[in-house]
Amino acid sequence: SLSGKTAIVTGSNSGIGLGIAHELARAGADVVLNSFTDRDEDHALAAELSQQHGVNVRYIRADMSSAEECRALIAQAGACDVLVNNAGIQHVAAVEAFPVEKWNAIIAINLSSAFHTTAAALPMMRKAGWGRIVNIASAHGLTASPYKSAYIAAKHGIVGLTKTVALETAEEAITCNAICPGYVLTPLVEAQIPDQMKAHDMDRDTVVREVMLARQPSKQFATVEQIGGTTVFLCSDAAAQITGTTISVDGGWTAL
Ligand code: NAD
Repeated sequence: SLSGKTAIVTGSNSGIGLGIAHELARAGADVVLNSFTDRDEDHALAAELSQQHGVNVRYIRADMSSAEECRALIAQAGACDVLVNNAGIQHVAAVEAFPVEKWNAIIAINLSSAFHTTAAALPMMRKAGWGRIVNIASAHGLTASPYKSAYIAAKHGIVGLTKTVALETAEEAITCNAICPGYVLTPLVEAQIPDQMKAHDMDRDTVVREVMLARQPSKQFATVEQIGGTTVFLCSDAAAQITGTTISVDGGWTAL
């Protein structure tokens, strides 16, 4: 059980981050939710999670594109036993047409944020004598596709950061690993289905199978619960000697 531990999940007011927060709370951890907004519904989400799992849940606003705000998130949380670097955005364009501001934002949010939060959290983990860092990379942290240069560079980068932090903490009760999901059915992905159905003149099942899951041999989406469950496993005693590596949850994508 993660009872008495505090888990911070960046980018967790929707999708995979929220799924991970649910599973960590179910496992008994107190949770800090985060995104760059500060809406009533963000705080309501924290209250709902707290009530559902009987743990302490707070929402802390911080923009993961800002080095200062990344570090302030950890400081404001006051404790960090489990750090999940999940915040991420995507932009699709050919390299020569890729907007510079999109490149910079993706590198900042998908890669540099994990450097800043990790740097701020490690002293707390060392003081507590225990810590788990879980970076949400992607199948695109291990393989590439065209037109996603910034995302793929950032995701390969976070796999490298994962290995380095693991070596720097290897003799301590701290581990650092990356989860590499394939396609996960989040609201963001769900919203693309009607457009793809129109663009390809296919029904839902065909577009999911032939277009969206073309590279996922299982022909099924991974779920946010599965990513959350993998995160909880990496926080367990069984995973104490798992560090500096990647776990793919991709229906066979990277076996192809
Ligand atoms: P999502 O858009 O539902 O979630 C992204 C989260 O990050 C949201 O909570 C959003 O508010 C937050 N966020 C965005 N910019 C932020 C910022 N500047 N500061 C703080 N928070 C910010 O998408 P998702 O699919 O749940 O993606 C979560 C992570 O999983 C990302 O790192 C993504 O690259 C990765 N991933 C997703 C898939 C997939 O198929 N959905 C596959 C592999 C990896």
